[in-house]
Amino acid sequence: MFNRHRWPLWHWHFELSSICTLKCPRCPRTELPDSLVQDQLRLDFFRTNFDRNVLRDVRRVTLCGDDGDPIYARDFLPIVHHFKSNDPTISLQIITNGGYKDEDWWRELGSMLNHYDEVHFSIDGSTQSISEQYRINSDHASSILGMKTLADSSYAFISWDMIAFKFNEHDIDDCRDLARAYGCDQFQLTLSSKFGSKYPGYLEDGKDALEPSDVFLPKGYRFVRKITNLTGRSLPDNGAKAANIAAYQAIKGSQGIIPLCKIGTKGMFVNSRGYLIPCCWVGNRYNDSGYSRFIRDDNNIRISGLEQVLNGDHWLGFFEDFYHMRECGDKCSAHLVDESYATNW
Ligand code: SF4
Ligand code: SF4
Repeated sequence: MFNRHRWPLWHWHFELSSICTLKCPRCPRTELPDSLVQDQLRLDFFRTNFDRNVLRDVRRVTLCGDDGDPIYARDFLPIVHHFKSNDPTISLQIITNGGYKDEDWWRELGSMLNHYDEVHFSIDGSTQSISEQYRINSDHASSILGMKTLADSSYAFISWDMIAFKFNEHDIDDCRDLARAYGCDQFQLTLSSKFGSKYPGYLEDGKDALEPSDVFLPKGYRFVRKITNLTGRSLPDNGAKAANIAAYQAIKGSQGIIPLCKIGTKGMFVNSRGYLIPCCWVGNRYNDSGYSRFIRDDNNIRISGLEQVLNGDHWLGFFEDFYHMRECGDKCSAHLVDESYATNW
């Protein structure tokens, strides 16, 4: 496929749905309900735009998003099948809370995944009463059912992902122990920056009740992950890492920014409405003027088709001034981006 702007086509990040059953307080769908558009990508979208020829360049596919949980997309299972049947060595990275699906559904998913794939369950406590202090409206039992079923019945790499909050600091070790007992391959603790000490808008009477102790906060504005491998397993080499490192080594910074979107670290982001956006950081709706610049018909893959969107003239303007966007300065500042930063999702 023609790739005039040299986008890193080895990694794509699809927001399969902007639908979710949960109401996490710091999710954009909860914080910005007025501008939320509930939508989803359907199987036809992938058949039309991401056929076997296009997938030849693809090594990793992340199914996550800004506004929703991918498993609530109506065509989630057929879309997973589309990728894996076209190329079993594509590495799917699925990020979900995992709630409200039954055992048969998880077994069907597990039957399509293989040892190149990873599934991350975002669960913020060892019990319903702890986790639901952030994962509001979640169903802890069904999330754990999904985790255990996949760990038992598939070759996928399973991770229990937890964000550190004030209310669950004491529970981290228990969650790690449970992850091991349930057959997870990894426990991933995220030190999030989305708290009042970094973003004063979260302070109420000078305090952010969700903010954990300093030891559980990152130094900068990008999250930090603390990973414990529980089984010694790792994903086999499918060329993704080499593509990532080669793109990092080839990148030339500009105006104090080393853009991860030209490396592929976060994946080329396609939101649930079909718009192509350089990354999910600028694809969220907090910075409306930044986000809005991507919401145009000639940048919508559903409307204009993948090749036209990728190669459009409108990207020339973006490359000239993207460093004015706050997210780019915060997340891709040259002083932050080294090989480790550029090769970890
Ligand atoms: S589970 Fe994810 S998509 Fe759903 S409300 Fe929470 S953060 Fe948002
Ligand atoms: S924050 Fe800006 S520079 Fe960084 S990946 Fe996103 S669009 Fe590119």
